[in-house]
Amino acid sequence: MFDQGLTVLRIRGIPVRLHITLLIFLPYVAYAAASQFSLVARSLGITREAMRLPPLAWGAVLAVGLFVAILAHELAHCAVALRNGMRVRSITLMMLGGVSLIERERPEHEAWMAFAGPLMSFGIGAVSYVAYRVLPAPAEVRVALLAFAITNGILGAFNLLPAFPMDGGRVLRGLLLRRLGPARATRVATTTGRAMAVVFGILGLLSWNLILVLIAAFVYMGASAEQARTSARDLLRGLPVARFMTDRLGEAYADEDPRAVAERLLRQNLVGARVLDDPRDGQDRREIGVVTFWDLARRLERGATPATIGAVMPVDVLRARVGDDATRSIEALASGEASAVAVLDEGEHVIGLVTPAEIQRALALAGALGVARGPLG
Ligand SMILES: [Zn+2]
Repeated sequence: MFDQGLTVLRIRGIPVRLHITLLIFLPYVAYAAASQFSLVARSLGITREAMRLPPLAWGAVLAVGLFVAILAHELAHCAVALRNGMRVRSITLMMLGGVSLIERERPEHEAWMAFAGPLMSFGIGAVSYVAYRVLPAPAEVRVALLAFAITNGILGAFNLLPAFPMDGGRVLRGLLLRRLGPARATRVATTTGRAMAVVFGILGLLSWNLILVLIAAFVYMGASAEQARTSARDLLRGLPVARFMTDRLGEAYADEDPRAVAERLLRQNLVGARVLDDPRDGQDRREIGVVTFWDLARRLERGATPATIGAVMPVDVLRARVGDDATRSIEALASGEASAVAVLDEGEHVIGLVTPAEIQRALALAGALGVARGPLG
């Protein structure tokens, strides 16, 4: 759900999307910003008559400004991620703020990456406050600057609460990582997150603050999902990659029509095919890669299908030996770093594939069992 929405611009190749919930929510934010604006104006002793624009117009300006500030907050997270070798798939601006989808997450950089966002919010707040103090602007502009400074300050501070998956919870996990290891650090962060969510929920209900109740639900579900994911991954850690492999593989020639290969996979109930290179006189065909049903389905669905299967073949397929520990493959598939893992035997032949579907199935079962390692080996 966080990867959907209208792409409005690209920053360094990262698509920035507007989620439909944002458009529904914007009028409410404008209304709330307008009442905050009036409050700030009153506290500065500026009357309604001294202003040219009504508070609601300023509310609209501040609401748009707030989402630009949230985008800057997300870009700060992304800048740290990119600098440390992670990949950013997209930034989505939605009802309760921004979400950056980051691939190849590196836990050792999580604390700093999570802290960068609130730091940016505080920075924007500080600049707005200085502008409010020194700019010789009309009274209502200064009111807006002060309101904007306060909002960004609150945004930064609220995000730093240790309510995983909010930024503060991620900072907490990142700081605990070295001392407790990933499993226990995640447990502490998600337990704290759920406790904070209950507090948000009670406060939200007592004060009739619907937004706070929504945030409580979001935090509670996010923390629970992360906990389930981590425990399931823990159960699978250390098992050989062959446990997750499927050997329902066919063969395809690099110069074959992708449609013909797709039909064959469907007919024979295969999950992928080894791709062999074009025949050269007197030489055996060599394996040059693999395609999965998923690669084919995606390319065919998009319409512009390449003429040969060789052109459909993904380059991000990871390779693993049949006896290798599956941890690396699970991480790569779960984080989106690789679209499939080709499992090789001693003679470097592809004997099977691990795709996200296999991992999801194993994670679902391991999560549901939730038992000690015994039955899984
Ligand atoms: Zn953030």
